Amino acid sequence: MKLGQELISADAIQRRVREIAQEISRDYQGIERALILLSVLKGSVSSYGAGTQSSGHVQLLKDLTMDVAGRDVLMVEDIIDTGLTTSFLFDHVQRHGPKSLKLCVLLNKEERRITPVPITYKGFDIPNHFVVGYGLDYDELYRNLTAVHILEP
Ligand code: 5GP
Repeated sequence: MKLGQELISADAIQRRVREIAQEISRDYQGIERALILLSVLKGSVSSYGAGTQSSGHVQLLKDLTMDVAGRDVLMVEDIIDTGLTTSFLFDHVQRHGPKSLKLCVLLNKEERRITPVPITYKGFDIPNHFVVGYGLDYDELYRNLTAVHILEP
């Protein structure tokens, strides 16, 4: 596998992230208790291993570390592909009884969707490619890139 063409520039990512941040600030302004931003830690969910295809089976290896009951919660995801991981986690958090639960995602591969997920804040729709950069890795590589790139076979 090798690093391919740049799909989303660092500038475009920064601009979109700022826009979404402003939207989120507006939407949650005036809530009683602070918004809980819930991010999925690498290693807390397993479905990929060291490949580029999801195994389709999601396993929760580490649960929530704070009580979200009665709180406004925003789940923040890097990328949604089949939707299996996110829908599993969304339902899991929902069972903890938050006051509200919404989903924010940077990259969305709509054509790969198997399980629908309710996205409220979305950075970019992308075509069906395995991508790396801006935190996304391939076997621990390319995570540090400031732009999003396609990974080529
Ligand atoms: P899903 O369950 O939606 O198929 O996949 C969710 C997870 O798979 C993401 O959170 C991410 O960790 C990984 N993933 C899906 N597509 C890609 C991709 O194009 N690049 C990378 N690096 N990870 C991906």
